[in-house]
Amino acid sequence: MDTISSTPTHCPYCALQCGMNLTPLAEGGVEVSERADFPVNQGALCGKGRTAAEVLAPGVRLTSPLVRRNGRLVEAGWTEALDLIAERLGSTRAAYGADALGVFGGGGLTNEKAYTLGKFARVVLGTSQIDYNGRFCMSSAAAAGTRAFGLDRGLPFPLADIPKTGCVILVGSNPAETMPPSLRYFRELRENGGTLIVVDPRRTRTAEQADLHLAPRPGTDLALALGLLHLVVAEGRTDEAYIRERTTGWAEARAAAMAHWPEYVERITGVPVPQLREAVRLFCEPEAAMVLTARGPEQQSKGTDTVGAWINLCLATGRAGRPLSGYGCLTGQGNGQGGREHGQKADQLPGYRKLDDPAARRHVAEVWGVAPDSLPGPGRSAYELLDALGTDIRALLLMGSNPVVSAPRAAHIEERIKSLDFLAVCDVVLSETAELADVVLPVTQWAEETGTTTSLEGRVLLRRQAVTPPPGVHSDLYVLHELAARLGVEKGFPTDPEEVFTELRRASAGGPADYSGITYRRLAAENGVFWPCPEPAETGPGTGRPERSVTGAGADRSVAGAGADRSVAGAGADRSVAGAGADRPEPAENDSDTAGPEPVEAVPGVVHPGTPRLFLDRFATDDGRARFANVTHRPTAEEPDAEYPLILTTGRVVAQYQSGAQTRRVTELNTAAPGPFVELHPRLAARIGAAEGDPVTVVSRRGRATAPARITSAIRPDTLFMPFHWPGAGRANTLTNPALDPTSRMPEFKSCAVRVETAAEA
Ligand code: SF4
Repeated sequence: MDTISSTPTHCPYCALQCGMNLTPLAEGGVEVSERADFPVNQGALCGKGRTAAEVLAPGVRLTSPLVRRNGRLVEAGWTEALDLIAERLGSTRAAYGADALGVFGGGGLTNEKAYTLGKFARVVLGTSQIDYNGRFCMSSAAAAGTRAFGLDRGLPFPLADIPKTGCVILVGSNPAETMPPSLRYFRELRENGGTLIVVDPRRTRTAEQADLHLAPRPGTDLALALGLLHLVVAEGRTDEAYIRERTTGWAEARAAAMAHWPEYVERITGVPVPQLREAVRLFCEPEAAMVLTARGPEQQSKGTDTVGAWINLCLATGRAGRPLSGYGCLTGQGNGQGGREHGQKADQLPGYRKLDDPAARRHVAEVWGVAPDSLPGPGRSAYELLDALGTDIRALLLMGSNPVVSAPRAAHIEERIKSLDFLAVCDVVLSETAELADVVLPVTQWAEETGTTTSLEGRVLLRRQAVTPPPGVHSDLYVLHELAARLGVEKGFPTDPEEVFTELRRASAGGPADYSGITYRRLAAENGVFWPCPEPAETGPGTGRPERSVTGAGADRSVAGAGADRSVAGAGADRSVAGAGADRPEPAENDSDTAGPEPVEAVPGVVHPGTPRLFLDRFATDDGRARFANVTHRPTAEEPDAEYPLILTTGRVVAQYQSGAQTRRVTELNTAAPGPFVELHPRLAARIGAAEGDPVTVVSRRGRATAPARITSAIRPDTLFMPFHWPGAGRANTLTNPALDPTSRMPEFKSCAVRVETAAEA
């Protein structure tokens, strides 16, 4: 492997985006080592990050295009492969129209790739049918956050605020398995006297570290949040001044909560009333507190309302938009945040603009050099798009996703994919979805390319190239450039990531996720910049004037001192300084990892410092107030019954990542977690006669999955758990329910009705 140099960069996997150093070795291969200067993980890495370089090896990653001949994928040249893709996309469009072409992206793609993929779909293909696997990740939190605050940024405050708050309710999140280095924030919280409440149907490794563990039936988190809010009101713990001055919709939300008596909530959730009261006490007594959600409440057919109910709890107690307090979402995928901001989502344009907003269309169309009317409207959401394959959608271009393993009702989706007229996949490895393709293109990954990602904090980061890609491998940007040219669009699809980022900055300027003041130089010098970060008026991309750069953290921020007590309300909002932070706790002196002083408005000629904390003065809604959600409890889409008496919930294990396409190829990880399992309670195991390790079959209305039993009292007796990282007979997503949330279009991964059988019964 030809090498460049030892390089500081970031992990290819989850949204924590841990910093790491990569050092090419003389004997071949690449060493991953500690990078202590990145504040989020301070050198710590989980096993996935530590072993990530194994996927760089030519024997593991793809190094040649593959084309299907006589039913088999065989090696081919790039020209042949690209010609074939362009010809099939073009002929399909000619025969069936542009919307017969589908594009499916991924939350692991860099901002540059996500941006270019969205532009390619709308400008080159002219199709509205583009979405991405992030729809299956945090879309309910994004929808609820936008509804409540006018803006979705996973965490509207840095992770570094967690140890300084008084209480965190962690809802449906298991960072001990998903992002272990983040546990230090919760450990420090407790060392500082704060408390941790974990809401999870399972006593996970995270729940074991909590002061209080609430274990509701899967799919009842909405009722749980309403029950807590009921008690907040009944015990006189609301913040009436805050509600009056900073929110709207309280009367309806209050009435809904008051209809959820604690005893009623106990019947729905299974959480005893004394635990509800204790949770309210722990959450309300400190001056500051947070609610953080993850996939548990979000991956439900009522995910948006469920998250909305938890946000209501924050609003009623005056938590959101106050220092060291508020609501946040722990986004999962490496670029889950940036991936949803820059145009690969069915209803979004770059900068987190709405595709059906005429002003947004005009702005982006101008950047792209096309007529606004030429841009298609919103398309299908991820599951709906996959479900339309082979019928309305005849050809699919897929980048960085593996829906054969990760989509709900996966056996059906696998059949839909097989029914396509044409499938082209760009990936690093031959995933289960790539195995079904007509053409597979081996593209650059992580350490082989430069690009930006946006972490769960909203911190834009520079991933640097550390090694030269193997011969035969090109970047996704090259693929889109070549396909655009073959389809008649010669310009507008650069292959240089920094050039793409410069255009992205222009496209995002003035939008909710404004990146216009962020440059590669700043990212390198400052270890990341939090958006929104608008460009000063008289500089920036396209103005012809030089861009200022900073040479170190906090450099050239003279304006920040003048405005140190200012705070940003939200992108494009009317910002004020009056009264900000008057009675708030002071940030710790050594708060360097929160990117320095509080943000200020963009001042002409002065570099904007970025925005670590949002909403401190006002929310990003038209009137600056947060909106309570008017939500009530409702059952899951599929409640247990006589035929399917149990609930299946799905999730992750520490040694695998998402569909496992990369991590299943890493020896250490595969040894630690070689296959799926079914977690079940000892009483249930005894009832069906299953012993530890026995194969058991879980059956839902959509299919069957068989895996060894793992018997543990850490799970409710009415609930089964399966991790979803594997294909084949133990594929958990064969069972899951594609019932969609009406707002976010999130499928109900977290709850479906099942029965369990031993091998003898099956
Ligand atoms: Fe950090 Fe996540 Fe990578 Fe693990 S997988 S090293 S937690 S970024």
